[in-house]
Amino acid sequence: MAETFYLTTPIYYVNAEPHIGHAYTTIMSDIIVRHHRQRGEDVFFLTGTDEHSSSVVRLAAKAGRTPREHADLNAARFRELGGVVGATNDFFIRTSDAEHVAAVGRVMERLRESGDVYPGTYAGWYCSSCERFYAEGELDEGRLCPIHRTPVDWLEEENWFFRLSAYRDRLLAHYDANPDWVLPAARRNEARRMIEDGLEDLSISRAGVEWGVPVPWDATQTVYVWVDALFNYYTALEYARPGEDLVGRFWPPDLHVMGKDILKFHAVIWPALLMAAGLQLPRREMIHGFVLKGGEKMSKTTGNVVDPFPFIAEYGIDALRYYLAREIPFGEDGTFTAEGFEARYSQELGNELGNLLNRVVSMLGRYRGGVVPSDPGGDADVAGEVAAAVEATTAAYDRLEVSRAVEDGWRLVQRLNRLVEQRAPWSLAKDPARAGELDQTLFSLAEGLRAVALLLWPVIPGSSERILAALGQDPSATALEGAAWGAGRQGAQVRSEGPLFPRVEEKVA
Ligand SMILES: [Zn+2]
Repeated sequence: MAETFYLTTPIYYVNAEPHIGHAYTTIMSDIIVRHHRQRGEDVFFLTGTDEHSSSVVRLAAKAGRTPREHADLNAARFRELGGVVGATNDFFIRTSDAEHVAAVGRVMERLRESGDVYPGTYAGWYCSSCERFYAEGELDEGRLCPIHRTPVDWLEEENWFFRLSAYRDRLLAHYDANPDWVLPAARRNEARRMIEDGLEDLSISRAGVEWGVPVPWDATQTVYVWVDALFNYYTALEYARPGEDLVGRFWPPDLHVMGKDILKFHAVIWPALLMAAGLQLPRREMIHGFVLKGGEKMSKTTGNVVDPFPFIAEYGIDALRYYLAREIPFGEDGTFTAEGFEARYSQELGNELGNLLNRVVSMLGRYRGGVVPSDPGGDADVAGEVAAAVEATTAAYDRLEVSRAVEDGWRLVQRLNRLVEQRAPWSLAKDPARAGELDQTLFSLAEGLRAVALLLWPVIPGSSERILAALGQDPSATALEGAAWGAGRQGAQVRSEGPLFPRVEEKVA
């Protein structure tokens, strides 16, 4: 049986405007799952929308719609974003799905059976955009939400609590036994410190809320939206494939991917909820940074948004995927600049990769009638570098160092460009006595490019498939084992596919 790999993105707030931050999370997740599919693993990739928030009710009322109508409209935009960025998710969960609502009810019963759910009074500062309470010390000056910089409300009510404080030692033991379960290390240490400093019990229900999951044993209460949302990672497996329960096959998740603003929910509260529910904890959580422009988090509420769509329309989605994956070390903040984007597009994608393919295809056309010579042997160093690149890339993905993985693949692109200059096929072609050398060079270039296409496929899937097609290979054969030297279709007929990354004259503002 194939190894399984289950990856999740956070579910996105349905009332948010899809922006580059969402695109970034989904793209990085998609790159990782595509790599695992290339390894022949049985992959499940989940994304979706978080819909039970009071802002949905508020904004729906303002627009004269029901919360359901409002959520339907906005969820569609996130579904569309996934399509635009090339996401290959296996399911799109919406927390308003009837199956999810029912499943959260069952999970709540499991939590209650743990003995760690009790009634109490909650009072505190609440940000309705974050859907969470803040302690006085966590607020910005002037009692502002530290994320949204908007005033918070004092809220007091009777509801159900989860005894999070009782999980301190178990959580610390889990952190110590699994040092890499939260990455990068700085985030792990941050989360561990929150636990060490002591945890307050968590209010897990709200009174007087109709748009949400009812607490099964108390009709006056609705499940706190974060608890409802977190369990999507579990409930989706129960109903994503009608008639098939995927829980046994994919639980626990191999990787949760998320931004650092929701660290506490995923690295402190979520594992405790799972322990209480008697469910296995996710194997790893990857906490990425923010995509910055001018040093501010890019989100609608704080302004300063880069809209990814004009870049996609102008340059194609592969260019954006490549730029984000290569530019921003996964786990760190990064800055998106139009200049940097255009430079990588024209210099790296256009000149280094696009032109290389173009030269190789046209030299094969000119000197060998468009047919890749059969393996003449002898280029052991190039073959060795391909094997090393495959190994390095795979290892980098295992460490979740995506930008390193791209660089490892890219070194091969640069190596092949040097090979063209060193061997100068146009000179070899003038000397019939050197026909064997020319065959060897052209074979190595075609074979090297084929490996490049496979190595970069998770990042630039459409372009990689075009490279394979141009080389006369099957564009749908993207398994990584195909990168083995000489594993391609023999005697392939190449064809010009036109420029991979055409010059773009206009600048995107
Ligand atoms: Zn907030």
